[in-house]
Amino acid sequence: MDRIEAEKRVEELNHLLHQYAHAYYTLDQPLVSDGVYDQYFQELLAIETEHPDLKYPDSPTVRVGGEIIEAFGKVTHENPMLSLANAFNEQDLRDFDRRVQEATHTKVAYICELKIDGLAISLRYEDGRFVQGATRGDGTVGEDITENLKTIRTVPLRLQEPVSLEVRGEAYMPKQSFVKLNEARDLAGEDPFANPRNAAAGSLRQLDPKIAASRNLAIFVYSIGGDATEYGKDSHSDALDYVDELGFQTNHARKRCTSIEEVIAYIEEWTEKRSALDYEIDGIVVKVDAFEDQEQLGYTARSPRWAIAYKFPAEEVTTTLTDVELSVGRTGVVTPTAILEPVLVDGTTVGRASLHNEDLIKEKDIRIGDTVVIRKAGDIIPEVVAPLIEMRTGDEVPFTMPENCPECDSELIRLEEEVALRCVNPQCPAQMKEAIIHFVSRNAMNIEGIGERVVEQLYRAELVHDVADLYTLTYEALIELERMGEKSVSNLLTAIEQSKENSLEKLLFGLGIRHVGVKAASILAEEFGSLDELMKADVEKLITIHEIGDKVAESVTTYFANEDVLAVLEKLRKAGLNLQYKGLTQADVPNEGVFVGKTIVLTGKLYEMTRGEAKKQIEALGGKVTGSVSKNTDLVVAGEAAGSKLTRAEELEILVWNEAQLIEALGESQ
Ligand code: NAD
Repeated sequence: MDRIEAEKRVEELNHLLHQYAHAYYTLDQPLVSDGVYDQYFQELLAIETEHPDLKYPDSPTVRVGGEIIEAFGKVTHENPMLSLANAFNEQDLRDFDRRVQEATHTKVAYICELKIDGLAISLRYEDGRFVQGATRGDGTVGEDITENLKTIRTVPLRLQEPVSLEVRGEAYMPKQSFVKLNEARDLAGEDPFANPRNAAAGSLRQLDPKIAASRNLAIFVYSIGGDATEYGKDSHSDALDYVDELGFQTNHARKRCTSIEEVIAYIEEWTEKRSALDYEIDGIVVKVDAFEDQEQLGYTARSPRWAIAYKFPAEEVTTTLTDVELSVGRTGVVTPTAILEPVLVDGTTVGRASLHNEDLIKEKDIRIGDTVVIRKAGDIIPEVVAPLIEMRTGDEVPFTMPENCPECDSELIRLEEEVALRCVNPQCPAQMKEAIIHFVSRNAMNIEGIGERVVEQLYRAELVHDVADLYTLTYEALIELERMGEKSVSNLLTAIEQSKENSLEKLLFGLGIRHVGVKAASILAEEFGSLDELMKADVEKLITIHEIGDKVAESVTTYFANEDVLAVLEKLRKAGLNLQYKGLTQADVPNEGVFVGKTIVLTGKLYEMTRGEAKKQIEALGGKVTGSVSKNTDLVVAGEAAGSKLTRAEELEILVWNEAQLIEALGESQ
């Protein structure tokens, strides 16, 4: 980055970080996730290191916290309440260790503590009695929230010894209380808090202490405020044992480590275990234990040099959206995908992310060229959370869906009550290819050896245009295809031949009639016994069948009235396909499908189908759908704006899918 660019970027980052810090510290309503804030903070720090003269006197990298709310009395801290420097990986920790060793010339011991995600609080006692409690504020001056702090049960009003001292700790809201609070706010029509940290901060900065009292807050004390040697303690660990004895609550997961290797092992252990805690932690704080060593190391304007906060990897980061790609599915639905400047999210490089549909793009006002926030939690396919409007330069281009199909150029339409745009041209190459992929899939005709790549090849070589053409494939034609050996050709031909014997329901499902999933296909095959009988049925007749509703009935009759469909069916008949129901044999019951015997929870908004429809299809494939997430849940399908169930799934480390993954696994879409 040259100097002019650096100047411009520094100004941009200062502006942005001030704005974010104000929303976070003063309003308790963050505009972005901590991961996004940290990403920009680190970027600013790196530029300032390279160009020290570009460091503004009020840069967020030299400041602590935010402004204070005027409504509260002010408290000037006797000793400043600082922030902590951050580490994001093993290398950062080793660099910290090296700096510590160099400054102290000894092999120091560290105390590792959980970094509680709440807000820093100072508690002052005189002769063993609680006299004043304050927020950190800007580090020098905080807000007097004594009355609110008195309502917290873990703040002792009287100590075990009549000492005068100041302690510091983190006030937090347990996860369960947070979920309950947000549920209650939802019912009352109030905005939910973004996370437990902001809920705790918001509760403590209420003028009416009754509100704080109702919020079930707690505090972990993590240090003595002033000089702890005054109390005869010469290390941080001794000081913590002492405050424990005085009656405060400290966090007992702390551990004394005698090497950086041990520190790293502790971090690994808690990265695994953190979701089981009843409170949120956002990292691990590593502190030099001996006060003598701490003194040697000293402080910067913003943080002590003897401590570092390791932050857990972010699940949300920002990157640039460079383009929107469209794909056409089997049922003609046109789906937009964001193409991104590749970025590392939670350990994997992400270059594409789901955008769901046009409405969502409009609702979020996502534009090409935007800086966007990307999220990838658990096993979810990455999605675009939102654009950062404040990062716009004016060159961003709003995205509009084309009026015509990107594959076949025919006009796209929006069916009633649907958010998706569809290409309804039955000859659309994209749909035809997808239709063939669906036809050969396991729950349909189960023809092994044909995947997306082979279908593409067959289509390009003009060997297939519809599913019936599969039955005209010859050895001579297939062997000409790239990467097709003798063995795979003969296996493929055998699989195609065998599929002719399938019972009718497999064909019915494979034809991809809208709304006819595995279960409906079975019911129809069993009820009518043959394709010919089914084709004769009208809507009235179909809806008399138990479990067949209007939607399926309409769709089936419309399907069989289509001349192109009839031509394909005739080709299939001529090819010698069985068109009769053979009765369900054990082999036909899906037993190796992903859903068999699995307990699944559906949450959030689905776009391609309702949750009820998804439930039906999962159950038809041998899965059980339940309402709440527990240890017995195997999979959570999270739609748009999934809430506490998704959080719970992440806590319990349960596999999470998004809607696209569900549809793929169901082997069909609506
Ligand atoms: P910090 O949270 O990175 O670390 C310092 C704080 O850690 C201390 O003040 C204390 O409150 C806390 N802490 C928890 N457990 C502790 C322990 N055992 N020992 C010592 N301290 C402990 O620094 P900060 O200055 O409070 O806040 C900066 C962070 O806040 C950023 O890194 C970012 O993650 C977040 N932030 C987010 C936004 C946003 O918009 N989302 C804006 C501003 C700041």
